[in-house]
Amino acid sequence: MFCQKCVVRCFKSLEKAGDRLTGAAGPFFVTFAVVLISTGTVCFFDVIYPTLPFKLLTAPICILIALNMFTHYYLVCTIPPGFVDAEGPQPPKTFPKRLLWASPKRSTDDYAYRALSPLENGFRGDERTGRLNVTRAELTKCRKCGQMRPERAHHCRICNRCVMKYDHHCPVRINQCVGVYNERHFVMFMMYLCLSTALYVLLGYQQFLKALGLSFQILWPYHVPVIAYLLTFILSCVLCFAVGIMLIVALWSVMKGETSVEAQDHEIYRKVALSRGEAFINSYDLGKMQNLKLFFNIGEGGYPLYTLFIPFRILPYTDGRSWARREGFERHRGVRRGEELTDDEIDENDL
Ligand SMILES: [Zn+2]
Ligand SMILES: [Zn+2]
Repeated sequence: MFCQKCVVRCFKSLEKAGDRLTGAAGPFFVTFAVVLISTGTVCFFDVIYPTLPFKLLTAPICILIALNMFTHYYLVCTIPPGFVDAEGPQPPKTFPKRLLWASPKRSTDDYAYRALSPLENGFRGDERTGRLNVTRAELTKCRKCGQMRPERAHHCRICNRCVMKYDHHCPVRINQCVGVYNERHFVMFMMYLCLSTALYVLLGYQQFLKALGLSFQILWPYHVPVIAYLLTFILSCVLCFAVGIMLIVALWSVMKGETSVEAQDHEIYRKVALSRGEAFINSYDLGKMQNLKLFFNIGEGGYPLYTLFIPFRILPYTDGRSWARREGFERHRGVRRGEELTDDEIDENDL
């Protein structure tokens, strides 16, 4: 018993040291990522772009893809994920009329909710039209930071704060948490990174073969060094594959209406419910298409579809304190009050 406690304590301190290390190394990872993405973009426009046909058509498309990738990366790194203890109004009280912010979709019915403040009552307009079943989130106290936090919020060990709709802390790519305010930009960044690297590999493989043959010769008629092209090409192959898998997993979670933390929790709830002969139903799951629409905040009540293609900053569909649920649901089915997992139990399960 004593030995077991020692091992657990040892693991915990190792884990804390690891958290501190990843927290400290975060800015270096981000700088490295910016240098790599910028090098790849310069290589693309120097080596691959001149070989493309229909320049008038391909130029704007290539520039738009690169702009999307950089802007969403900038936004996911700089927008706070939605800390429960954040100061100031979150979200803003009026729709910011600044560069990078998209305008919300015009209402097509009589409710004219476009005239109201964004996320008034914590939710986008269609709550008032009765299109969605919205419930206020229940509050619980975090045992680690003492904050009263709404459901779907979790404590981040690295930030040492509670984050609304906490998904995970990403030290390598963005050096912060992914939560309700930046999760859309995180997925959008992965989508555009995946698309860019796929295009790099598909359109640039002939130059890659050429570069391999020319690596020891002086004949390389481009501005970028041959080694930079070779390295970015190989990196693009790896990233396209790795980020592609991560993107599929992330989109699948979005379609199921759960975060990566909730996916683990729901697995346990499912077993508990099954042992009682009940079925667990995730009340945040409104169907695959509706979940996607809410996540990207598009469609009626949200933003226009073009916000998926033009790199705008937009608000999430909720302020993280109210949630859309299945019709007729106020909470998950199959899990009883008091049975919900806390962060402590999740940490213990991780060990
Ligand atoms: Zn906390
Ligand atoms: Zn964090």
